[in-house]
Amino acid sequence: VRSIVNLFLVFLLLIFSVSVVSAQSINAQIPERSGDFPDLDHPGVRVRVFVHEPKDKDREKPMVGSSAICSPDDPSASVVGSTGWKLPSTNWTYKLNKASVPASVGGANLPTFVANGFNSWTSSISASAKPALVYGGLTSKTKNGYDGENIIAWGRTSGSALAVTYTRYYVSTGVVVDTIMNLKYAWTLNSCSPIAYDAADILTHEQGHWFGLNDEYAAGYVNNTMYGYGFKAETKKTTPTQGDISGINLIYQ
Ligand SMILES: [Zn+2]
Repeated sequence: VRSIVNLFLVFLLLIFSVSVVSAQSINAQIPERSGDFPDLDHPGVRVRVFVHEPKDKDREKPMVGSSAICSPDDPSASVVGSTGWKLPSTNWTYKLNKASVPASVGGANLPTFVANGFNSWTSSISASAKPALVYGGLTSKTKNGYDGENIIAWGRTSGSALAVTYTRYYVSTGVVVDTIMNLKYAWTLNSCSPIAYDAADILTHEQGHWFGLNDEYAAGYVNNTMYGYGFKAETKKTTPTQGDISGINLIYQ
């Protein structure tokens, strides 16, 4: 009897280790760093990863009540570059994970500030042919994946990113876009809290990537929504600057 029990335990262990390995292999080949990588699970598909890092350890750290951060937009005419793809000029459906949103932001607020963020970009496009972002309901997903769903969720990312946006595409056509906001940071909404990141501010930057805008890291872009770093207590990125608007209109014309 003991040998049968032992055999059964070995069998259980085998099943368990196989399931652990297969769970870890999902997306394991996609690094969490900015770049363009093959999606080895789906031949022909590449994934562009945008990692949005915090930058508040230097002299650009926002001060409480400072007009530099909590004020309305500082202008910037620096034109933002493109990633080389664009969304189709059709309905483009996204799903939201309300349950994943930190209580300090409020899941009930998610559809509104997501829609505001998308609208800030689509309303900046002069051309009549442009994508229409459509809310397609809830998702329970908290990870990126090549699954036909474009999602916005809070989840655990492996590195120090505030948020990571993944765009999977065939050559020039974006097919799936996922934005994962990192749960390990303190988040807020419209409060200018000196100890937290504003969800709408950071998300509007990520939504710029959905439309095909790139990150810009040069000093001349520090006031752009597509500047590559995020700051605590910053809210001005919820509306694109002239340079962001010029950039998106070079993509959609
Ligand atoms: Zn970015």
